[in-house]
Amino acid sequence: MRHSLPVDGAIGAPLRILVSACLLGALVRYDGGSCRTAALAGYDDIQWIPICPEVAGGLPVPRPPAQIVAPGVVQTEAGDDVSAWFHAGAECALQCCLQSGIRVAVLKEGSPSCGVHEIHDGNLLGRRVAGQGVTAQRLLAAGVAVFNEHEVADAVMASRRLAL
Ligand code: SF4
Repeated sequence: MRHSLPVDGAIGAPLRILVSACLLGALVRYDGGSCRTAALAGYDDIQWIPICPEVAGGLPVPRPPAQIVAPGVVQTEAGDDVSAWFHAGAECALQCCLQSGIRVAVLKEGSPSCGVHEIHDGNLLGRRVAGQGVTAQRLLAAGVAVFNEHEVADAVMASRRLAL
């Protein structure tokens, strides 16, 4: 089902961009760490709205690492199917965008939830292949422009352009 996104905030309001919480320094990774990046600093007109889809979907920190093993199917190394939590987290991220008028997201590359251009190949061998995480896919399908942590400047430009 496609959702239509409302137009971003009123004139003069900060532009809101959804961001993977770990990129802002939140200790929400599967191993209890973060992936803080300095690339998010220095944008005074941007309000970063953090979300960790896996935590929002109900998974704990720490948690077993997981990978996409088939379209829409996510498993831990032990073979446990955790797809339901990943899809619940994707829905939380989408609802956050819909409720806040967010039309751009910066997500952590390579994650089974947040990966924008790449995900692990599902063989638990550390190899990456082209693909999107569950949340990135959900947001893209709803019309949210999705960028990774190396494309922050592009994300900010897209957000500013959409606000014109
Ligand atoms: S699900 Fe996304 S926000 Fe949460 S730790 Fe993984 S990459 Fe970061």
